[in-house]
Amino acid sequence: MSELIYKNKNAFDALGEEELENARLYAEGYKKFLDAAKTEREAVREAITLAEARGFVPLPEGDGGALAPGSRVYKSVGGKALFLAVIGETPPRDGINFAGAHVDSPRLDLKQLPLYEDGEMAFFKTHYYGGIKKYQWVTLPLALHGVAAKADGTLVPVNIGEKEDEPVFFVSDLLPHLGREQSKKTLSEAFTGEQLNILAGTKPTGGEKNENRFKTAVLKLLHAKYGIAEEDFLSAELEAVPAGRARDAGFDSSLILAYGHDDRSCTYAALKAILDLDGSAPPKKTAVCILTDKEEIGSEGVTGSQSRILESFTARLAGGAEQAARCFESSFCLSADVCNAFDPNFPDVSEKNNSAQLNHGMGIMKFTGSGGKSGSSDASAETVAKLRRLFAENGVLWQMAELGKVDQGGGGTIAKYMANRGIETIDAGVPVISMHAPWEAASKLDCYMTYKGIAALYGNEI
Ligand code: MN
Ligand code: MN
Repeated sequence: MSELIYKNKNAFDALGEEELENARLYAEGYKKFLDAAKTEREAVREAITLAEARGFVPLPEGDGGALAPGSRVYKSVGGKALFLAVIGETPPRDGINFAGAHVDSPRLDLKQLPLYEDGEMAFFKTHYYGGIKKYQWVTLPLALHGVAAKADGTLVPVNIGEKEDEPVFFVSDLLPHLGREQSKKTLSEAFTGEQLNILAGTKPTGGEKNENRFKTAVLKLLHAKYGIAEEDFLSAELEAVPAGRARDAGFDSSLILAYGHDDRSCTYAALKAILDLDGSAPPKKTAVCILTDKEEIGSEGVTGSQSRILESFTARLAGGAEQAARCFESSFCLSADVCNAFDPNFPDVSEKNNSAQLNHGMGIMKFTGSGGKSGSSDASAETVAKLRRLFAENGVLWQMAELGKVDQGGGGTIAKYMANRGIETIDAGVPVISMHAPWEAASKLDCYMTYKGIAALYGNEI
């Protein structure tokens, strides 16, 4: 009677040589994307570059309801969020297959007036973004990415610390010799947000009598390189992220260690899946890829997934606001976000039967939230059944996932914001080890299977 027992397989046992090679090649493209897209702006810019190379054009102004089947269009939201669509055989008003991932990741943002000097050193004050464990962000090389928006309307891009010959930045920590009091504190108390100050320089300008000569020296360098002055920080978004590229991990190179798997792994999967749709044969249903910002801080704002811009974008595809609302009711959404992979170093937080495992494929989460599933949209049994059928028919290896043991903690995704619009929605994505750490680990096979899962949705009626 063993056929009555459910068992999901390790992808290395389940897949043939060809699929293993496909996954390896997929991972090479994904690593390039990771390196080119470390912030939400860079991710959107890189996605547009890749999309335009595959025939996508900006969504024409005005009523887009008349777009022909097979049309490939995109809309950037302030350069920080992006919608891409491939129009299907049936009109968009009859329903859309959505996949939505987020392009923001936890990081240290520079404050609006960040630069100061103390102890003959210049520092940047930071304000962390998203859920971080602060102790993980000290004594590692950081790069600065972002923009300074000048009052004259010009945007100055900043990207320093990634190339071998460029300097990096860092936050200091106390030497263990003097850490007796520090080590008595809890992890959350030992490092405070106001201690996450980034060292910017130690070389003064001018003589000893000059005031602020360490801070001024940094400003001089910034002015020479970027043409910006201190006031320009007021309207800048400068993000400190771990410096360095995505790397293979493990002797067998089965994993990728990188900054921002949450949620670039699903961003790239959803993006590649929509780019790969056959240009000569439109999908039956319209496919839309949503790359959204601000998920890590609650999906608020113009570029977050709660933004009504999704309504107006859909209205332009569907031919009106009323049609868009009806379209949502006939739509399906994979909320593509990472889940927690079981980590044998921390077995106590997970319940093994219901935890995702590395190399067991795309993780499906029926619900997220915390406590009694609070704050989750909790997908229907029928929705899970549809995915079972879709994935079985399309060779997608997948597994059920939950964030952790009951009452252990919790978290959320964009799923509820999509579901609240009346769209049938479920969470699905890549299982990750050390989620939200500066360097996160994910399996190449799981990344590839997440791509295959989203491609199956785009290519079929569900
Ligand atoms: Mn996420
Ligand atoms: Mn996250």
